[in-house]
Amino acid sequence: MAGTGDAHLRSRDVVLSARDLTVEYSTPGGVVHAVSGVSFDVRRGETLALVGESGCGKSTTGRAVLRLERITGGQVSFHDTDLTALRSGPLRALRRRMQMIFQDPVASLNPRRTVRELVVEGLAIASESAATRAHVADRVLAEVGLDPARHGAMRPRQLSGGQAQRVAIARALAIRPDLVVCDEPVSALDVSVQAQILNLIKDLKAEHDLTLVFISHDLAVVRSVSDRVMVMYLGRICETGSVDEVFGSPAHPYTRALLDSVPRPRRSFSGPALSGEVPSPLDPPSGCRFRTRCPAVIAQCSTEVPTIRRIGPDHHVACHVAEGAVAAGAIGLSVSGAEGP
Ligand code: ADP
Ligand code: MG
Repeated sequence: MAGTGDAHLRSRDVVLSARDLTVEYSTPGGVVHAVSGVSFDVRRGETLALVGESGCGKSTTGRAVLRLERITGGQVSFHDTDLTALRSGPLRALRRRMQMIFQDPVASLNPRRTVRELVVEGLAIASESAATRAHVADRVLAEVGLDPARHGAMRPRQLSGGQAQRVAIARALAIRPDLVVCDEPVSALDVSVQAQILNLIKDLKAEHDLTLVFISHDLAVVRSVSDRVMVMYLGRICETGSVDEVFGSPAHPYTRALLDSVPRPRRSFSGPALSGEVPSPLDPPSGCRFRTRCPAVIAQCSTEVPTIRRIGPDHHVACHVAEGAVAAGAIGLSVSGAEGP
């Protein structure tokens, strides 16, 4: 694929790279096309956001790049290692440099363990002494704003959602990973706590030189934490680029509709922000998968899958009509947004 697959991006600064990543689930109802030919790079120290409505394949992509999901096709590389070709032993060793933080922090933590036990659980048992583990626990708990003396002996159920997410973050940090995939890390938290956790993630990222894949359906959240963004729809990439370019001059009708449906800073589009239903991933539309809901659809959209084209310094779009639309500023977007159809 052109665009994000450009050879110049395959520099040594690329921590994670996906090429034509495809994940399909065989179900009694047929094959679910969860992720279909997705290519992207995440460079060292940057935060790449995956955005799109529920069901568009964000979590599957996040899990697949850590090989927590069986990959049907394509390739994933971590630094220079092809993860898709790795056997389980070397994969396990490499996974220690990649961590994941989930939406529901309490559910992601073993309820029987104490906070102190939880945060050092991922450290290699044989190579770390008890003193080292205690030291690491103190350090990472302090780093995420928890008091080792007060919170260390608690169990996950005794923690608030925000505290539990701090523990999950401490646990990931203890291993000193290069790459962290955050899957909707603040979506389950009270709005008042969300900003604290986002700031914590931003601070820790800078301090530890982390590379992040940040999954969220909330555009305001994405805008506040990300350097680059990849907009997905029904398992495919619509648009990708720097946050400034994608949010400042969205080119894909889907991205424009998403942004139009967020009139106030804190709104997300988890509800029916766009008119019409997302088609079934069991039988996605031919050509462009967004065409059945697209206000700018033309005949070509049902016969040809749009390839990703470069339209700016760090801006790529997969749409047959996008560029003209941007130039003319004339896509008559009439998606329902907050007002209803
Ligand atoms: P998102 O995170 O963007 O909400 P997901 O990656 O969770 O989307 O899901 C993408 C699609 O794959 C959805 O249609 C979802 O129902 C489907 N899916 C996810 N996991 C499975 C699974 N284990 N088996 C079958 N279908 C799945
Ligand atoms: Mg998800």
